[in-house]
Amino acid sequence: MRSQTIDIIMGDITQLSVDAIVNAANNSLLGGGGVDGAIHRVAGPELLEECRGLKGCDTGQAKLTSGYQLPAKHVIHTVGPIWYGGEEGEAGHLASCYRDSLRLAEQYQLKSVAFPAISCGVYGYPAEQAAEIAIRTVMEEKSNDLSIIFCLFSEEMLSVYQRVFKGLSEN
Ligand code: ADP
Repeated sequence: MRSQTIDIIMGDITQLSVDAIVNAANNSLLGGGGVDGAIHRVAGPELLEECRGLKGCDTGQAKLTSGYQLPAKHVIHTVGPIWYGGEEGEAGHLASCYRDSLRLAEQYQLKSVAFPAISCGVYGYPAEQAAEIAIRTVMEEKSNDLSIIFCLFSEEMLSVYQRVFKGLSEN
């Protein structure tokens, strides 16, 4: 059996030909700015139609749709926490986003999943802390036969993830 692999890349997640890309959505699942807006633009209006039927999503949970016009086959919509300073359960919710997304990946027998830096845009989660939760949580889940890609949108975020990954791999 193959084991889990983790790759850290810089790029536009909407251009990845993977089994699923993860969307950093909001509770309504009806679209927004940032990576959410980019995904809906490329996927086309059918994605919004399917999302309407999902009736929203709780923070820390995830729901799967088709990818429509995206190169990715599916979209896993997850709702990250808004950063309120760290005392409002943000870390638990963020870890839950990664775990619930991986649960869906397993349920649908996906082989490759790409994550953006959930909550690190308008939701304001500190990059270093978010990267640590992202990487630690996927390492703990140890999903067999799954290729995990962290797709970052800036050089700065890329180097944060690379540094955190190195630190966690050495321990
Ligand atoms: P949130 O509301 O969860 O903070 P955002 O979409 O505002 O979500 O930001 C999450 C992260 O996604 C940010 O680091 C942002 O730079 C990044 N991002 C924005 N567009 C894309 C894209 N097309 N591909 C990958 N990452 C993206």
